[in-house]
Amino acid sequence: MTNQVTMNGPGDPKLHFVFVPFLAQGHMLPMIDVAQLLAKRGVLATVIITPFNASRIKNTIDRAAKAGLPIRFVPLRFPCAEVGLPEGCENVDVVPTAELAKNFFEATGLLGKPLETYLREQQQPYPSCMVSDFCNPWTREVASRLGVPLFTFYPMCSFFLLGMHNILHSSIHDAIADETEPFVVPGLAHKIEVTKARTPELFPGTEWEKIREGIKAADRAADGIVVNSFSELEPWYLERYQEVVEKKVWALGPLSLCNKDAADMANRGKKASVDKDRCLRWLDSMKPRSVVYVSFGSLTHVAPSQIIDVGAGLEASNHPFIWVIKEIENSPEVERWMSGAFERRTSARGLIIKGWAPQLMILSHPAVGGFITHCGWNSSLEAISAGVPMITWPFFGDQFLNERLIVDVLRTGIMAGVKDPWMWGTVSNEVSVRRDDVEKAVRSLMDVGDQERELRRERATELGEKARKAVEEGGSSYVNMTLLIEYVRNKLHHSCNPLGS
Ligand code: UDP
Repeated sequence: MTNQVTMNGPGDPKLHFVFVPFLAQGHMLPMIDVAQLLAKRGVLATVIITPFNASRIKNTIDRAAKAGLPIRFVPLRFPCAEVGLPEGCENVDVVPTAELAKNFFEATGLLGKPLETYLREQQQPYPSCMVSDFCNPWTREVASRLGVPLFTFYPMCSFFLLGMHNILHSSIHDAIADETEPFVVPGLAHKIEVTKARTPELFPGTEWEKIREGIKAADRAADGIVVNSFSELEPWYLERYQEVVEKKVWALGPLSLCNKDAADMANRGKKASVDKDRCLRWLDSMKPRSVVYVSFGSLTHVAPSQIIDVGAGLEASNHPFIWVIKEIENSPEVERWMSGAFERRTSARGLIIKGWAPQLMILSHPAVGGFITHCGWNSSLEAISAGVPMITWPFFGDQFLNERLIVDVLRTGIMAGVKDPWMWGTVSNEVSVRRDDVEKAVRSLMDVGDQERELRRERATELGEKARKAVEEGGSSYVNMTLLIEYVRNKLHHSCNPLGS
């Protein structure tokens, strides 16, 4: 599975970045993008994965090899049996119940020894640094034993990271009894109103204490933090977050923009469940900015009754749509409803993808003019990069604060009107946003002639341009990556690491 390795530029010390992603789509995909970006700059990148995940991203691995990029994908055996997980349960999106989430974290923690053994035994070059997802705090000890600098990767924005930091450090949650009582997040540049229910700690309660403490220790030990963001998007928040964590925050995004080729965009993360050319032909047949794209990411489980209300709202809106329904959501009830009159009635203007969508390819097509999103940070930033305004429909985690960034700060989105958060691993058959509200939101976002809509579009287009500039040669994220490479090179010169020259 290991790819052919080519070397760094002539005369360079052999810089070697080791990437340890957390095994969930929203974490792996942006980290593989960073690895590819560095490899394109001549840095050797090793990405630690597992056999199941390697087979899913075979297309990416093969294309990187074909392009001659100095990047190794190293599949380590994932210890499912040791922690009581079903065999092959190597990604969060296939963990069958919420109760098994702890087991999944336990299994990732067991990768420390094999990772260290692999890195010690492999041929030169010795690692220069490790970039590890914040959900893998166990890598702190591996990096320390290997004597290499550690960078923590947060696939999130600074707005969320700072907002959550301020909420937790101010203990404002403790002062509020009612989960639904609005309060203003302290210490932000904008007045951001949230509730306790919508700003849950990422790893709450005593059962996650060890992970929580581990994350804090890894952040303290890290040389810096890498985020999937760019300076022009949230300048105040990036600076302030850097101040509160008291270390360099490297904004290297939008990372997804490194996938320029249609083939790279089409099968990112998993093989797409729709033929790329069919999807492109369908999009080409639609008017510019006329299509609304609907996807709730890789981890949510939308209940059948809610799926039916989304469909009914889309139908009533009269706008063309591409709608992604994950395999896990495609229940017999949904299938019956779809294959009845709905699919027939909407076939001329609706494309339904059951399974995995080529999201980057869709969002970057000129026919797409709106995105109903769960506000996962990758999806949000992918829409921002493509200049696409959003209807925000958060479910859990950082998504409620991401909604506030999109609606209140960037003003490139409108809310679907979700009130209650969703508990990962559960399926409630309650309808969170009713069909009339889905229709209303789609009309507000997409109907022609509305002045606010035009201004929102202009803002989205401008942000998209800034995003693309940030990753171009000389752009803010491009320069940050150069500085990160220089930083690691300097560390190497001054260390007693076997490679220090
Ligand atoms: N994604 C995709 N096709 C799908 C669903 C998701 O390509 O059908 C990608 C999407 O482009 C994004 C990632 O998977 O890069 C999901 O990450 P995000 O942070 O948006 O949400 P999560 O799945 O982590 O909740």
